[in-house]
Amino acid sequence: MRATVAREFALPRFWSKLAKIAFGPESAPQTPANMTTKSKAYLIGGGIGSLAAAAFMIRDGNLPGGNISILEAAPILGGSLDAAGDADRGYSMRGGRMVTTDNYECTWDLCKSIPSLTRPGKSVFQETVEFNERHQSNSMARLVDRRRAKTPVASMGFSMQDRLELLRLSQATEESLGASRITDHLSLGFFETPFWYMWSTTFAFQPWHSAVEFKRYLLRFMLEFSRIETLAGVKRTIYNQYDSLVVPLQTWLADQGVHFVTDCRVTDIAHKTEDEKFVVTSLQCVCAGESEAIAVSDGDLVFLQNASMTDASSLGSMTHAPAQRTKAESGGWTLWERLADGRPEFGRPQVFNSSIAQAWWESFTVTLKDPSFFNQMKQFSGNEAGTGGLVTFKDSNWLLSIVLAFQPHFANQPEGVYVFWGYSLFPDRVGNFVPKSMTECNGAEILTELCGHLRFDPETTATANCIPCRMPYITSMFMPREKGDRPFPVPSGSKNLAFVSQFVEIPEDVVFTVEYSVRAAQMAVYELMGVERKVPNVTPHAKSHLAQFEALLKAFK
Ligand SMILES: Cc1cc2nc3c(=O)[nH]c(=O)nc-3n(C[C@H](O)[C@H](O)[C@H](O)COP(=O)(O)OP(=O)(O)OC[C@H]3O[C@@H](n4cnc5c(N)ncnc54)[C@H](O)[C@@H]3O)c2cc1C
Repeated sequence: MRATVAREFALPRFWSKLAKIAFGPESAPQTPANMTTKSKAYLIGGGIGSLAAAAFMIRDGNLPGGNISILEAAPILGGSLDAAGDADRGYSMRGGRMVTTDNYECTWDLCKSIPSLTRPGKSVFQETVEFNERHQSNSMARLVDRRRAKTPVASMGFSMQDRLELLRLSQATEESLGASRITDHLSLGFFETPFWYMWSTTFAFQPWHSAVEFKRYLLRFMLEFSRIETLAGVKRTIYNQYDSLVVPLQTWLADQGVHFVTDCRVTDIAHKTEDEKFVVTSLQCVCAGESEAIAVSDGDLVFLQNASMTDASSLGSMTHAPAQRTKAESGGWTLWERLADGRPEFGRPQVFNSSIAQAWWESFTVTLKDPSFFNQMKQFSGNEAGTGGLVTFKDSNWLLSIVLAFQPHFANQPEGVYVFWGYSLFPDRVGNFVPKSMTECNGAEILTELCGHLRFDPETTATANCIPCRMPYITSMFMPREKGDRPFPVPSGSKNLAFVSQFVEIPEDVVFTVEYSVRAAQMAVYELMGVERKVPNVTPHAKSHLAQFEALLKAFK
């Protein structure tokens, strides 16, 4: 097998060496009984889930980094946490991420061991906390209406019926909710409340999504309930999440000797049954256009990223709308579909990937070479870039939102260049200022729509390069599901195969987060390797705050 190191790292190796002294493993590493020092680990997919799994195997499982290979179909690692480009070609990122320090227990557990690339001697966790102490979120223009007026958001707009229904939903069991949808539990008026506009656009919920997942969000992010209008609980990384999370982690892994094999799609997994257990024996891959087989020996481990929310996504340009791709053109779901066929313990991918109409939306990234858009936004919203978070045009047909992050947002972003990100939950609708659905629009037309809602002159975006991005499966994890539709990180009956993705079953935690993939990785590694260290608990905000939640519901008018 080729062992191609995918990326040359600009940062000196001595940081990593220094880090080993400063950030050595927190727990005494153990050698699991069922593995030897010659055991190998193969990670299929190079998203944050796989990178985290590799780090946990090294830090907590004592597996040498040189025994680990990450096989990624794309040309770079990071998966959905991508961000690329430059000032001339324009920057693009599929997503802009919010994190919290009240949750994300596994992510920060990991990031405490990964050296910062911007703050020598500190960890990624420390640099993030310090950055957020300097730049606190306090949105002053969370919702904007059709008159370009900032909508008052002190009131959540609940009726008595909304409050009762929300309480009932938050207390229902997952078994009783089954595969029901949010609309099965909340009346129509709820979907017109300021709360719904803020909550749904903060977390990308649609009314037809899973009631179980909505309930999990209410409980997991209960602390956000009382500060959703200012986004005060939201934390940001210094740069975009590729530069601030993926690059430091990948740098650390490279220094440990982990092999990164890009442009390599695993197309099949051969197995045998031993003591009634599923045992992977080899991986069939297509690497750089050539077929290869990787033998998986006794004691070796395999981790599969079963599908991706950004599968089949496509970029457009100022002059072209993004191509409309489906899973048939990407092959990203095929391996999970093949494995799960006839094996209920591996889940049911068709529950998540059968309706693009219910799962897709579009985002866009705008690169500007003068400050006028940022200046006008500051004047309009009252927020410096990086302190406001999402601004949602609540009456816009596309349900358009934008975020102006702290600048620079890219590690290589020159002074005088400004980058912001936005997205629409209803890209299938005709715009208010452009007589087309967003999906038919190129970047220039998206800017026309945005400036229309802001009543900004077109000159404000004269230097702009807007790159749209269509993501057909972006909310596929939110599709209504039942117990058993997602495999456990280590499915029952599996000896050496684990699943690390957004499509696994983890009690209490919520999908569409970096945390979910990192938690899945930590659970899978600890179980397969027999690591005794405990996976951090999901913080029980809900238990301690349920009474407070009830009081809040009663208090909000
Ligand atoms: C627009 C957007 C906004 C978001 N907002 C937030 C937010 O605010 N807060 C937050 O915490 N999270 C957010 N997220 C979610 C977060 O980014 C993801 O949950 C996380 O990055 C998923 O990581 P992953 O490793 O599980 O999967 P992915 O990043 O999807 O990686 C899977 C990788 O596996 C590869 N792969 C799959 N099959 C194969 C195969 N057979 N062979 C080889 N390679 C394969 C794919 O190419 C892909 O690179 C957002 C995501 C997006 C896209």
